[in-house]
Amino acid sequence: MTVRTRFAPSPTGYLHIGGVRTALFNWLFTRRQGGQFLLRIDDTDAQRNVEEALAPILHGFRWLGLHWDEGPEIGGPHAPYYQSQRLKRYQEEVERLLKSGAAYYDYATADEIAAERLEAEREKRPFVYSRRYMAESADEQSRFEKEGRKRVVRLKMPREGTCVIQDHIRGRVEVQWAREQDHVVQRADGTCLYHLASVVDDFDFEITHVIRAEEHLPNTPRQVFIVQSLGYGLPQYAHVPYVAAPASKEKLSKRKLDKYLKMPDFRKLNEHGAAIAQAIGIGTSADTFNPVIVDFYEQVGYLPDAIVNYLVLLGWSLDDKTEFFSRQQMVDSFSLERVNSSPAAFDPKKLWAFQDHYMKGLPPKQKVAMMLPFLQRAKLVSSPPPCEVGPLLMRIVEAAGDRLKTAGDIIQYADFFFLDLPRYESDAVEKRLKAPGVAERLTRFRALLATVAPWTAAALEEAMNRFIAAEGIAIGDIIHAVRVAVTGKTVGPGMFDCLELLGKERVEGRLEEGVKMAGTA
Ligand code: GLU
Repeated sequence: MTVRTRFAPSPTGYLHIGGVRTALFNWLFTRRQGGQFLLRIDDTDAQRNVEEALAPILHGFRWLGLHWDEGPEIGGPHAPYYQSQRLKRYQEEVERLLKSGAAYYDYATADEIAAERLEAEREKRPFVYSRRYMAESADEQSRFEKEGRKRVVRLKMPREGTCVIQDHIRGRVEVQWAREQDHVVQRADGTCLYHLASVVDDFDFEITHVIRAEEHLPNTPRQVFIVQSLGYGLPQYAHVPYVAAPASKEKLSKRKLDKYLKMPDFRKLNEHGAAIAQAIGIGTSADTFNPVIVDFYEQVGYLPDAIVNYLVLLGWSLDDKTEFFSRQQMVDSFSLERVNSSPAAFDPKKLWAFQDHYMKGLPPKQKVAMMLPFLQRAKLVSSPPPCEVGPLLMRIVEAAGDRLKTAGDIIQYADFFFLDLPRYESDAVEKRLKAPGVAERLTRFRALLATVAPWTAAALEEAMNRFIAAEGIAIGDIIHAVRVAVTGKTVGPGMFDCLELLGKERVEGRLEEGVKMAGTA
């Protein structure tokens, strides 16, 4: 048997971090088994332009390297993979359910059903539809139709016995059939409901394993009933717990951002991203830019491998100690049986630690390739870049060591290399330049630089040492002022690397600027 799985997103316009974690489990399980992973689009209720709302989802999958074997954009033997294009097929299967007696036309109005429900509530007994308006013969149908009633199609669910679901994560799940309702599978307007569509798709697409969010577990009995009534074979089920909000048991939701921002680690993650977003001129509305959405991490310049490695451990572990997995190791070690059956909470600090780890391991050349587009988006470097930018960026990245945690960090860290004059941060100017004696000291230091040759970090450091000895001051009495004058800020790359890379002329110009600012103290 070839394993076939699917992830079935609705075109919502964004890829939720919890959703992609479920997709990742599907993907890993399938790759391990040498099977096929499909994307199917649940767009029967789509209110918006499907292609547009799907684009960020497909993009997110590609960015994370979770490639699908069949589905949108690539097609496959069972195309189309969009539910909205398969309505005829669902209709056929509704007819079959009706013919076999597994479903019936129901002519009750919504009010009549509500009244029955109310009565059951009043009598403190579980609600079971009386089937009073069920029409199984042509006579009954025409009688109700003469009354001007509209019909839906309902499943004629069993009312005795037990539905048993063998779930790879939850184990054996038993549900009394009597607890189920006669669920509607086709509305009065002829459109079919998701439960029917999903089951028909899973059968037609030869899905062997339905691995999905646990919120679908309550839907499974009715789906099992449809599967059995249509004579399909049951797929295997695995219901994956949701991803919880930080330090909570509540489901992680993109709409609760305000609440999460009260937590320092979450706020830090968000603020770090928002600063980069602002520098590259993208909107930061919580609808599109939000750490609950995968796109956030791409926009800010995280590494897909870090995100995937973080996500796989959100509810799965190999042995409670291994943290870092290459993609292949993940594929080789993944099993549904080791997915935890209780929700795992999203932990921004841990995600950051994974990003840090993967960034440290990234060769400088790849960092440069990742960072250049950020400088271009921030309009610090033109496109195509002038030829000196590549080598300069390489030097900056090498000098930065492990200080750049995401690709977007390059903007704030190194903007002054690409500007005529740095963006002077007012706090920095206030603290380091506007102090007594600074203007004079900077002027004397600038004069000394005229004698430095060759213009290298080592020679500059040596000159600085000579300067402090001659002035009888500590290094801190000059170096901070030099840094602010030359870079505009109080932290950044090694000072002497900065001076070397900026070149004599620009350093002299900026020191002069620093003197001007200091002089107005
Ligand atoms: N479209 C459904 C969802 O987004 C998928 C349900 C399923 O996997 O069966 O939750």
